Amino acid sequence: MKSLWSDSDAQAFVAKYKDQGHNEDVALRVYTTRLLGGDPRLVLHGGGNTSVKTRATDLLGDSVDVLCVKGSGWDMGNIEPAGLPAVRMEPLLKLRQLDKLSDEDMVNYQRANLMDQTSPNPSVETLLHAFLPHKFIDHTHSTAVLSVTDQPDGEEQCRALYGKRMGYVPYIMPGFALAKKAAEVFEQDPTVEGLILLKHGIFTFGDSARSAYELMIEMVTLAEDRLKTNRKQVFVPAKLPAKTASVAEVAPILRGLLSLDQGDGAYKRWVLDFRTSDAIRNYVDGADVERYSQVGVVTPDHTIRTKNWPVVLPAPEAGKLDEWAAGAKTAIGAFEALYHDYFARNNERFHPGKTELDPMPRVILVPGLGLFGVGASKKDAMIAADIAVNTVESVTDAEAIGTYSPVTEADMFDCEYWSLEQAKLGKGTEKALARQVAVITGGGSGIGAAAARAFAKEGCEVAVLDRNEAAAKDTARQVGGKALGVACDVTDPASVKAAFQAVAAHFGGIDIVVSNAGAAWQGQVGIVDDSVVRQSFELNFFAHQSVAQAAVAVMKAQGTGGCLLFNTSKQALNPGKNFGPYGMPKAATLFLMKQYALDHGGDGIRSNAVNADRIRSGLLTPEMIAARSKARGVTEKDYMAGNLLGREVTAEDVADAFVWLARATKTTACTITVDGGNIEASLR
Ligand SMILES: [Zn+2]
Repeated sequence: MKSLWSDSDAQAFVAKYKDQGHNEDVALRVYTTRLLGGDPRLVLHGGGNTSVKTRATDLLGDSVDVLCVKGSGWDMGNIEPAGLPAVRMEPLLKLRQLDKLSDEDMVNYQRANLMDQTSPNPSVETLLHAFLPHKFIDHTHSTAVLSVTDQPDGEEQCRALYGKRMGYVPYIMPGFALAKKAAEVFEQDPTVEGLILLKHGIFTFGDSARSAYELMIEMVTLAEDRLKTNRKQVFVPAKLPAKTASVAEVAPILRGLLSLDQGDGAYKRWVLDFRTSDAIRNYVDGADVERYSQVGVVTPDHTIRTKNWPVVLPAPEAGKLDEWAAGAKTAIGAFEALYHDYFARNNERFHPGKTELDPMPRVILVPGLGLFGVGASKKDAMIAADIAVNTVESVTDAEAIGTYSPVTEADMFDCEYWSLEQAKLGKGTEKALARQVAVITGGGSGIGAAAARAFAKEGCEVAVLDRNEAAAKDTARQVGGKALGVACDVTDPASVKAAFQAVAAHFGGIDIVVSNAGAAWQGQVGIVDDSVVRQSFELNFFAHQSVAQAAVAVMKAQGTGGCLLFNTSKQALNPGKNFGPYGMPKAATLFLMKQYALDHGGDGIRSNAVNADRIRSGLLTPEMIAARSKARGVTEKDYMAGNLLGREVTAEDVADAFVWLARATKTTACTITVDGGNIEASLR
């Protein structure tokens, strides 16, 4: 591992933050914190922390000693001064004299001594930083260091590697007791350059941001070099099927098995994130994977994201998905039982007891394929997967030099059920459509783009499909979050199938489909060229059928119902003169909607439509609006508001109707009209 320190970058940070009123200490603390946080081999997703001891001015104009320490909820990789709340040093140091301090009292006391009450909670490792005398302190959960310390003889291994350069702190859960112990270890030999927190991570310290950072790099490099020597071969591969099923086939089945049935057609679903590489395959394909994957997390902090163990599934043989699904179901059921037992066994130590979390795995190992991260959102699934990938590396290296052996189950339980760790996961109720995946066709513009935004706002993971790939990706970018843009020509069944497979592989499955893509063709029905009618039927009818079929295939694999939404049109109910080529397939699509409701209601799949009219879009361009309003002798504004309510209907209004239908879990075979009122097109 190389030092990324650059004098010019450091000076740029100092100059930038000086303008914002921050001193050099804080600016350099931000700089090297980001250097550390940018490398997943050092810290991942909120893990690790840093601090600097400096001075700040209070309201009275007095200069006071403060500790600026990473705040909870901030990632080191993109930290700002606001993520390094300043806590008064003097009161922190006084705590050292206590024998005991509860976590809740510690958090409260730290908050009470913040310079700015709007700051985030200072790290749970704040006191450890405070009790050490050094100006700059860096803490990471280095993958390489963990591979060396997560051994049955981890302390001897570390001592052999670092000798007297480091102090060795036995495993204690973060908090007051660990802070005191770390300070004691340091004081026994104040010449040490850092501390190894056995089975947890590493601290380095220095007088300058650069020296503390470069010591971290040096110590981690020593661990990396150690891992390159005296390696044994890992792992022996298991016998796998000659051909494995694809991720797109496996993921929806898996997603269905993980879903928690909440009754009355409701499910607590999960979003998946798949990863594979040679290193991952070497790990998950190992004959002994049930041993080394089930020992526990590499550092206890990971347990809130990944639980303590992944579940190992059978290898999915191509063409034998039913058999695989049965094996996967058994394995997940066994994981749930194991988790209940683990909870019951460890909860006995607590009075009052803890409340059990959901029993579902967050990491799934699939021999022959790779691994899945599982989360309530794509973001959470990616975090779990990032940690799992890191775990693969750390455990592989640990096994190569010895036997992987992390902290005990009781220690892991204490972290998983620690109130301060649980707080990191955030609270609050989920959005109405959270944990669901919505696919929107024709999402590159108009109603489709509005629908993509509306579904994302309700908490959905969104996949935007459009014939124009750039437009699909553009909408996905506008939607933000983890939205996906995919090229798809809905008139080509192979393209539809490929797009749906891509979405299923990316998010794990599909719950809601807005079949929206369409275009208008005109012609007087008695004389119009046959090719015009057929072309319109391809897009305005057959494409809806291809999309709905592809969706149903994924939904049935999941077994958790689903929601089909069709964009029909006023034309489906109320023909416009010379609009036959457009209206006829739309009328057929209205019927298609009802047929899906009838044939797949038993699968829990709902099917509904929105009947909209006169929306500014690719079907009704500014030129068309100008021409039509002129032909009718009205202003463009009056033309657009030419309905019973006299108000223009927007793409957002239509998108809201789609969202409402997605939420209406007892509604199927329904058409909602969003047209401002048109009595001829009304349903009843
Ligand atoms: Zn830590």
